[in-house]
Amino acid sequence: MIYLDHNATTPIDDRVLEAMLPFLKTFYGNPSSLYRLGRIAGSAIDAAREQLAALVGVQPGQIIFTGGGTEANNLALATLDPQAGLAVSAIEHPSVMEPALHLKSQGHELALLKVDANGLITQSAIDEAISLKPGLVSMMLANNETGVIQNIAHYADQLKTHGIKVHTDAVQALGKIPLDFNRLGVHLMSLSSHKIYGPKGCGALVLEKPAALIKPMLLGGGQEQGLRAGTENVAAIVGFGKAAELAKIELAERHARLLKLRTLLEHGLSAIPGLTIFAERTERLVNTVQVGIQGIDGEMLLMRLDQKGIAVSSGSACASGQREPSPVLVAMGIEPAQAKSAIRISVGKANTEAEIFEFIKQLKSLIETG
Ligand code: PLP
Repeated sequence: MIYLDHNATTPIDDRVLEAMLPFLKTFYGNPSSLYRLGRIAGSAIDAAREQLAALVGVQPGQIIFTGGGTEANNLALATLDPQAGLAVSAIEHPSVMEPALHLKSQGHELALLKVDANGLITQSAIDEAISLKPGLVSMMLANNETGVIQNIAHYADQLKTHGIKVHTDAVQALGKIPLDFNRLGVHLMSLSSHKIYGPKGCGALVLEKPAALIKPMLLGGGQEQGLRAGTENVAAIVGFGKAAELAKIELAERHARLLKLRTLLEHGLSAIPGLTIFAERTERLVNTVQVGIQGIDGEMLLMRLDQKGIAVSSGSACASGQREPSPVLVAMGIEPAQAKSAIRISVGKANTEAEIFEFIKQLKSLIETG
């Protein structure tokens, strides 16, 4: 099996699993319980919060653990004031876009920030957003499909001077680029564990000022400063913390390795006739390449690669039984036919050069045989 879909999810790191196991077996106490077994679980959550805080340059108290990136995004958008409008970029993940559309259906104004042909949010879109004076602007840091990285710090600075709150979905950026919450200058930032070799179903919302900023979606016990009720998923949080610690230690090494693999990959891909690398010359995540191949159906290609034991992702999503081209590529002005030919290759820390060569070989042969 050659796994080239790390933006969808990553395999759990052995060291992460090892850190988690005691909290599934031995230390099963409820972290809210006052006796020793509970306190051990509570301390483990505190330690994980510190590990994640260190990776993104915040105080541990600024982190609210959630049930994943989707929940963190929903929680961030739920901070919108009752009368305020909202602006989100046109290329957001569904876990931002869907709650944004829901808020619109509830009567909030919704503006979509346009992107250019390289998938970058434009200055004119920001100027327009400022003139609409929304309560919140949500812009992802790195796109899950193209890997394109936005200049969030630059835009957050402009929006903040107009009193507009800024949220960034940094789920894909975490562990792949240095990430400093304060340097980004946003008010809210979403993270997810399973994109950084941690367990699924665990994420976090980072807040500039926890108490002042958000309304809980889940009501119940007072967990997570009263902002996310429910007994904590201790083992998953411990795993997320460990994954964050490893990401911090190994960031530079992983970056160098992934860059080498991506360079090899792009070199091989560029020899394939009719193949376009989307946003090729734009700053992108070092592990991500999205391509369109003339005359090819991306999903069909994905299935044929799967038969060869290779996992990649296609650029189209299934909506109401019909395959639609990726909204991200459509927002970049890519023709629907080309968008439907897209596949995304996202490499990870355990991939090898031999796997990249094998992928290129199989891809070429599948394209040649039609
Ligand atoms: N945001 C982005 C950019 C993503 O790529 C994903 C995962 O696919 C999410 C949010 C959702 O995260 P989770 O799977 O933890 O809910």
